[in-house]
Amino acid sequence: MLSFSPDVSNALPRVAAGWPALEQSYAELGAAFSVPVAVNALPDPVLVASSAEAAALVGLTPPRTAAEEHDWALAFGGHVGAISGHSRATVYAGHQFGNWAGQLGDGRALLLGDWPDRSGGAHSGGYASWEIQFKGSGLTPFSRMGDGWAVLRSSIREFLCSEAMAALGVPTTRALCLVGSSRPVRRERMETAAMVTRLSPSFVRFGHFEHFSYSGQTAQLRQLVDWVITRYCPQCAAAPQPALALLEWVVARTAHLIAQWQAVGFIHGVMNTDNMSILGWTIDYGPFAFLDGYDPLHTPNTTDRGGRYAYGRQPAIAHWNLLALGQSLLPLIDKPEHALEAVDAFRPRYVQAMQQRLAAKLGLERLLPDDGDLFQDLLDVMAANRSDWTLTFRLLADLPADPQAQIPGPLAAQFARNPLGFSQWVARYRARLQAESRDAAARARAMHAVNPAMVLRHHLAQAAIVQAEGGDFSEVRRLLEALRHPFDAQALPAHYTAPPTDETPPARLSCSS
Ligand code: AMP
Ligand code: MG
Repeated sequence: MLSFSPDVSNALPRVAAGWPALEQSYAELGAAFSVPVAVNALPDPVLVASSAEAAALVGLTPPRTAAEEHDWALAFGGHVGAISGHSRATVYAGHQFGNWAGQLGDGRALLLGDWPDRSGGAHSGGYASWEIQFKGSGLTPFSRMGDGWAVLRSSIREFLCSEAMAALGVPTTRALCLVGSSRPVRRERMETAAMVTRLSPSFVRFGHFEHFSYSGQTAQLRQLVDWVITRYCPQCAAAPQPALALLEWVVARTAHLIAQWQAVGFIHGVMNTDNMSILGWTIDYGPFAFLDGYDPLHTPNTTDRGGRYAYGRQPAIAHWNLLALGQSLLPLIDKPEHALEAVDAFRPRYVQAMQQRLAAKLGLERLLPDDGDLFQDLLDVMAANRSDWTLTFRLLADLPADPQAQIPGPLAAQFARNPLGFSQWVARYRARLQAESRDAAARARAMHAVNPAMVLRHHLAQAAIVQAEGGDFSEVRRLLEALRHPFDAQALPAHYTAPPTDETPPARLSCSS
């Protein structure tokens, strides 16, 4: 029994002033693609936090008063039929940890429909609408062994990281708001259920194509390819082989995405093909982490014993996942070798994108032939020193180019284990800076604009979670506010930019969320 009586009739006009009738484009694909599933409303819904930026994307005014927050909690806790009355679960499949997992599907997420973009395309990748989803809204026909719920802990992580990644400039699904509840949920311990309202131009995953391909539904596979092309890459329709053109398009976008992850030190944690967006956007925040001390073999996911999804393996795994996507599209591509060629373009595209990112991170205006070695040698010396990823690049902006000048203390402290290796690298970097035309101040400004002072480190999220589990959402909100300005060190409290202390336990996360 629900222990409250929602004032639905009043809530609707206030939250949904100017609320559009949601279109149901994905539903129009037919019964093979999605099924209607009712939202299970959260009992005692309470608004934990909302994102003003995400609200602006869809033309909503974020709640300011307690009454407005209550309206949002009702609306995005599943109590307002005008919003969630046409909810559906979509079917997909996937490769998990390298193995074919068969049919999966939205096990606890529901698609509500399409909401017109109000950002003029600026934040939607140029697309005219956002699909809106509830995550954590109860059982669906695809829940398998799961309970359909999402717990507050993991929902805070998804909410904060979606908005943090967007502020870092990394393509990502967005999080409009986060609603908590009194519903008890069993994980390793008892927790409570929560729901994140997510936005993305598309929630279609590689796994959607795999489902139709490997179950022999070629007509539906073609239908999905046509639908995705029409909506998201209409230029592919004119190609001699549209499915091949789509594959090439996804390869290019994924290469750019992974370069962006690597540049900000983001470890997704569970890069199964069902967690790969066809748009090349970050999707499904589970056991993710940002690097603290640089260790290319680090993964925060304790379920991933072999480190398949470790930081340094993400590019190779993206390539593997693209192979799985390419394989699934073979029924629509003339020759398998064309698909292979398309997928193998990932490597050069990724290397180029990553080199450009590293050049920018080091304040270099263009790439010279030897720069690749300079980058790799920095990464090697950082790995040997476990240098903090975020802090090291940020501090490098303040390194004087003058060969005689001392290495500033805070930067040197990141290389305490092997200072000689770092000073040798610094000498080469300084020599390289001679080939640049920018002065020191302009270089520092440029570096500060691409190297964040703050990322959503595990210990920061954890502190907010502990407080929120005790009923105090203020730290979630403060953290969100700070994460909106990750490059602006002056505006950030010092403890948000500091790495964890040795006493802070490292991220150890499982897939159970
Ligand atoms: P993930 O590894 O979190 O991406 O999940 C893989 C699949 O399991 C997806 O199809 C999810 O929808 C589903 N799933 C994960 N957690 C749950 C849950 N608590 N209840 C139902 N389905 C879930
Ligand atoms: Mg998933």
